[in-house]
Amino acid sequence: MLHEVAAGDLEPNHICNPLRKLLRRVVVLDGNVESIDLSQRRVTISYTASLIRHDLPFDHLVLALGSDTNYAGVPGVAEHAFGIKTLGDAVMLRAAVIALLEAASVEPDPEQRKKMLTFVVAGGGFAGIETIGAINDLARESLPHYGRIDAGEVRVVLIHGGPCILPELGETLVSPLAATSVFSWMVLSFLRPFGGSCPRSSTPSGRIFPYGLASGVTAASETTKNS
Ligand SMILES: Cc1cc2nc3c(=O)[nH]c(=O)nc-3n(C[C@H](O)[C@H](O)[C@H](O)COP(=O)(O)OP(=O)(O)OC[C@H]3O[C@@H](n4cnc5c(N)ncnc54)[C@H](O)[C@@H]3O)c2cc1C
Repeated sequence: MLHEVAAGDLEPNHICNPLRKLLRRVVVLDGNVESIDLSQRRVTISYTASLIRHDLPFDHLVLALGSDTNYAGVPGVAEHAFGIKTLGDAVMLRAAVIALLEAASVEPDPEQRKKMLTFVVAGGGFAGIETIGAINDLARESLPHYGRIDAGEVRVVLIHGGPCILPELGETLVSPLAATSVFSWMVLSFLRPFGGSCPRSSTPSGRIFPYGLASGVTAASETTKNS
């Protein structure tokens, strides 16, 4: 549902709940696991809001530390693109799209406006497809409020490094890229490192996309911290 927060369809507090309210018979400590001593069966915890450190004994230990976003080793994506992993990311993405629409609506230079209204998403897995859909909906549905922007100026580009989007579903469920013509996005196969001088993204055919906003969301195939 993160993409729905990015699209402005849902508020952040619609998709999260306080742990203490959910877990009524559980002692909840909101801290960082610093270290684990397996032989002594103890976990050391620190707290962001204070200097206190805590040593907790355990009988059984369950590790569920989540995963990091997988940027598929493409240099530049992590540094220059918005992620979509946390509620904060979703809120920032939404704010950035709106800020670009605001800026483009008063920008007299057509080339500059074209750049501001080009939204590039790297990665056609679940997260990328949800994100590009959210950006597409947010940008296009906001246009009536920005009378000076022509709908044809908005470009939403997905750059994906494979023959099929949504590879998680398997080839039998996903048609090759050609089928994506049903969407109003431009889909480019093969992601290549983003150009050194941001903001630009490029493809092996040499096509350069000066963009207003880039989101790198190859998060669907994440690497797990537990491993
Ligand atoms: C854009 C996007 C959309 C998604 N949409 C869906 C969807 O529609 N449906 C669905 O089922 N799944 C969806 N997912 C996947 C889903 O969010 C993840 O599978 C799920 O959150 C994994 O849960 P988890 O508990 O393993 O990890 P997380 O939710 O990542 O939780 C791990 C927690 O561990 C904490 N942690 C990490 N290190 C430490 C440490 N050292 N000390 C203390 N705490 C630590 C982290 O802060 C975090 O709170 C989506 C993911 C993304 C990125």
